Amino acid sequence: MSIKIITCKKSRIDKVDFQNLSFGKEFSDHIFITEFDGKNWVNKRIQPFEAIPLNITLSALHYGQSIFEGLKAFRDINNQIQIFRPKDNFIRMNKSANRMCMQEIPEDIFFSGLVELCKIDNKWISNIQGNSYYLRPLMFAIDDSFGVHASENYVFAIIGCAVGAYYSKNLKLKVETEFSRACIGGTGFAKTAGNYAASLLATKKANKEGYDQILWTDVIEHKYIEELGSSNIFLLYENKLITPNLRGTVLDGITRDSVIKLAITFGYSVEERVISIDEIIQLHTSNKLIEIFATGTAASVISIKELSYYGHSINLEIKENNLASKLKNKLEEIKLSKTDDIFNWNFHVKI
Ligand SMILES: *Cc1c(COP(=O)(O)O)cnc(C)c1O
Repeated sequence: MSIKIITCKKSRIDKVDFQNLSFGKEFSDHIFITEFDGKNWVNKRIQPFEAIPLNITLSALHYGQSIFEGLKAFRDINNQIQIFRPKDNFIRMNKSANRMCMQEIPEDIFFSGLVELCKIDNKWISNIQGNSYYLRPLMFAIDDSFGVHASENYVFAIIGCAVGAYYSKNLKLKVETEFSRACIGGTGFAKTAGNYAASLLATKKANKEGYDQILWTDVIEHKYIEELGSSNIFLLYENKLITPNLRGTVLDGITRDSVIKLAITFGYSVEERVISIDEIIQLHTSNKLIEIFATGTAASVISIKELSYYGHSINLEIKENNLASKLKNKLEEIKLSKTDDIFNWNFHVKI
């Protein structure tokens, strides 16, 4: 495949403080971009990270055909670049595309885009503890007419971004019982813009009330837990790790899947099933509940210290060396090639 390379005039890397990165602000020098013209993906190119001209009529803005992915590249202990599970992001992106009635992205374009961007901006992939290079594939509709229809023209782009550790503290969650994120038959399993727009008001309200994030529940009874705004949830009791089953309303997290597979190798039994708030309260009251944690690419694995349901709080003691931190460490060891990559999760980028 031929990709045109247009390099930036001057790198911005010298202005970046790699010791103090916040999430999603330090975009690297280049992006990968291509357009679908109704027939073919054309004009595949690496170009400088800069504003691109777009029409005010573009249909993604009006009718929301917009999807994205999030994955990370790491500089491992051998100074090699590894992308974590990109094939899974590729598959999920096309699931989102299908649900939103958008063009599928071909595998070779998705992978060449990732590889070329990692190559050209490889200096942005630092080996500082906790740092990584966040990759954000994005596709949106660019037809310019007001009739509501599935667009024929699209932009697919990949943006790269140097990031540090995402959350540093343990989370305080509000179990949401007023607003809803996703219903069966809806778009909850797709990484599509509207899901996040719909979540903002509830999240803002929860933040004002002193919570870090929302734990979404089912739309009908608000009794069965689903996930957080951008991460999945797990609970540990006895030797059992449980997580809500994917029922069309829960995003099929790649970190979720990694955690399930690793926990099994650690000797836990893992169940994906319906989990009610009542069950959680019961487990907690009978002193059986050991841990709750959230998983996602941005945050990896993060402990939850408090869960509040109609103002009733469940507080959990966060112990050192708990399962959340063991999983987080194991994942990091794999990503940095400090241990065997038994599931073949790393995708090596030759520079
Ligand atoms: C991206 C996302 C997740 C986590 O998925 P990962 O593949 O682990 O990053 C979970 N829930 C929602 C709603 C998300 O958008």
